[in-house]
Amino acid sequence: MENVVIIGSGCAGLTAAIYAARANLKPLVLEGHEPGGQLSLTTHVENFPGFPDGILGPELIENMKKQAARFGAVFKAGAVTEADLSERPFRITAGAHVYETKTLIVAAGASARLLGLKGEKELIGRGVSTCATCDGYFFRGKPIAIVGGGDSAMEEANFLSRYASKVYLIHRRNDFRASKIMIDRARANQKIEFVTPYVVEEIQSPQGLVCGLKIRNVEFSDTREIEVDGVFVAIGHDPNSTVFKGKLDMDPNGYLEATHGSISNIPGVFIAGDVQDHRYRQAVTAAGSGCMAAIDAEKFLEEHSHLGSWS
Ligand code: NAP
Repeated sequence: MENVVIIGSGCAGLTAAIYAARANLKPLVLEGHEPGGQLSLTTHVENFPGFPDGILGPELIENMKKQAARFGAVFKAGAVTEADLSERPFRITAGAHVYETKTLIVAAGASARLLGLKGEKELIGRGVSTCATCDGYFFRGKPIAIVGGGDSAMEEANFLSRYASKVYLIHRRNDFRASKIMIDRARANQKIEFVTPYVVEEIQSPQGLVCGLKIRNVEFSDTREIEVDGVFVAIGHDPNSTVFKGKLDMDPNGYLEATHGSISNIPGVFIAGDVQDHRYRQAVTAAGSGCMAAIDAEKFLEEHSHLGSWS
């Protein structure tokens, strides 16, 4: 039986793993369907304290993983398909494996949203992408579009402009959610054209590869077509909480609810990172909440160890 199973290997899960491992709990980290979480899909991180020149997201994640492994954290690939939290020990299923654990830390993160257009999902890898870092290189010298008005859209537009011949930044409003510094950077970039207030109506792909977009002006309803070889969707994320529906308290958008730091409605289950945070969503806040969850799990184990039995 495990002392602590950590679901998720992003910033929150890995920080929880570092703390739990240093408490000699030998945590088991189930890496999930997106190992490394959102930082592994980003480029430069300039706001994580301790890195005055910034650090690449994947490098930061790799460093955290090494740090946790050094103190005894164990990593297993695979996403959780079932969680039986009805009694302790909890039973966590990931594919063919079932893990029994005294405590559980849910740091499952959030996943990229899609626009919900016809053929969009099928075109992932054929011109549609939610990961500029992963796929930008494939669009060298080609025109592409990015959809969204948050920091992700700005950051990815700048990143993609290194490869693409032109980047259309399509956003449904004339105002942006992104921070001013990120907008200014994108506006100063000669390769980026702001296209607002527009929504994408259709992804054109007569040969099974993206070749253009039909977009509609939200104010005047007129449509236009733009030729692009790729479209990057950067419109936010949804929490990965489906397996906990009906088990853990969540808000109407599926974000898990934690009180007093990481405490869930089930004793012994702790919550950390973006799966419970739709407000801050920062690497550093995810890391902080991972730390809290590990400390809470450790205290829970201490308090319950005198009972001698976990069944
Ligand atoms: P976000 O801030 O939630 O922005 C999502 C954007 O997508 C919004 O502009 C939204 O438009 C638009 N959108 C949502 N659904 C849409 C739809 N169906 N069709 C068209 N547009 C749609 O998400 P994010 O940019 O991924 O950022 C998430 C968090 O991470 C934020 O806190 C951000 O600051 C942080 N972040 C920081 C950095 C950095 O500092 N380096 C980089 C990336 C992200 P509306 O505005 O009209 O709702």
